[in-house]
Amino acid sequence: MNQLLVEQYEKLGISREVYAFGEAVEASLKERFSAIDATAEYNQLKVLQAMQENRVSAECFNATSGYGYNDLGRETLEKVYATCFKGEDALVRPQITCGTHALALALMSNLRPGDELLSPVGKPYDTLEEVIGIRPSKGSLAEYGVTYRQVDLLPDGEFDYEGIRNAIGPRTRMVTIQRSKGYAPRRTLSVARIGELVAFIKSIRPDIICMVDNCYGEFVEEREPLEVGADLIVGSLIKNPGGGLAPVGGYLVGTSECVENAAYRLTSPGLGKEVGASLGILQSFYQGLFLAPVVTAGALKGAIFAANIYEKLGFDVIPDGSESRHDIIQAISFHKPEALIAFCEGIQAAAPVDSYVTPEPWAMPGYDSDVIMAAGAFVQGSSIELSADGPVKPPYAVYFQGGLTWYHAKTGILKTLQKLKERNLVPHGVI
Ligand SMILES: *Cc1c(COP(=O)(O)O)cnc(C)c1O
Repeated sequence: MNQLLVEQYEKLGISREVYAFGEAVEASLKERFSAIDATAEYNQLKVLQAMQENRVSAECFNATSGYGYNDLGRETLEKVYATCFKGEDALVRPQITCGTHALALALMSNLRPGDELLSPVGKPYDTLEEVIGIRPSKGSLAEYGVTYRQVDLLPDGEFDYEGIRNAIGPRTRMVTIQRSKGYAPRRTLSVARIGELVAFIKSIRPDIICMVDNCYGEFVEEREPLEVGADLIVGSLIKNPGGGLAPVGGYLVGTSECVENAAYRLTSPGLGKEVGASLGILQSFYQGLFLAPVVTAGALKGAIFAANIYEKLGFDVIPDGSESRHDIIQAISFHKPEALIAFCEGIQAAAPVDSYVTPEPWAMPGYDSDVIMAAGAFVQGSSIELSADGPVKPPYAVYFQGGLTWYHAKTGILKTLQKLKERNLVPHGVI
């Protein structure tokens, strides 16, 4: 054991035994970690090339104000995103407030009254229910006369091709495909599987717009959904592609037409992409994108490390310790509220910000049970930073994600283990 390192872990409240347990697990993951490093290397080059090809310069970091006409930094950044994610055009803006806003923008700008939206992968992310009008809401697509259909995945997780074929009608204008499982109990879709689904849909009606909710998926694989036929990808800058540095924002990349529609909706018909002052924020967008492949790799290692630690202790983990990964989210079902709470306390105690506070379950709006959340982030609510949350109800599952560096993710997970061990919530004799 590296004595200095062990002592430093002890200063953070992590015992020798817990550290040693973690080392043994980490040692078993060498091959997987080197595959993640290889993906990060590829994606780092991809980002670098996109920046060079579009001639990113120091002038791109200058602030604009007011209307933001001729904002070189904004226009170049959008070209960089388009090159990097292989789209014709992009909209990357601080005025897009979050992932839900980016998705709502994509849908509301590309659908017209009388059109139908189809989700062929089951229920979309919670916040989209109100955007679509699955739960009635002011300003929803439903209020504007856009209808919605959904085809669930089959019990084995496969696409219900027959059901999808039957659900596509003359009014089907757009399909929404969520890459990450979010909080649904299903597997995350690989880019290859998204490609199969898009090809199937296009074989029925080539003019259907295939949008992918790309949240949490960026840079996890070498390829992104536009490379397998999708028309539009959408995500949040306080997740993977902001690299932890973007303090706000969302993006859309895809066909010129889809992006143009979104731009006219974000600002105004007639104005589109031509306005939108960047107020000096763009350097963090560029630098965050530059770091994003490595930051995502660290978060991915953390997720795999957590899966293997908790699987070894006999808990249910999704994905399991050995399966392939297509996003950065890890779920662990503890089946005991005390263990869920101890886990979140561990994540909080390992944070660089607000480490001294104790997270407590509370009745959050929109949830039918108390929810506990742990985050000590530089950017409020940023989930590319180390964070965990879970509803306090059976199966007492925690959703864990992020970590700006692999070492921090590792420390956070060891800290959760320490908390569980101190409260006798792990099987005796294992640690
Ligand atoms: C986070 C997320 C969203 C919504 O993003 P917010 O920034 O929280 O509004 C949508 N879809 C998926 C899959 C997500 O992970």
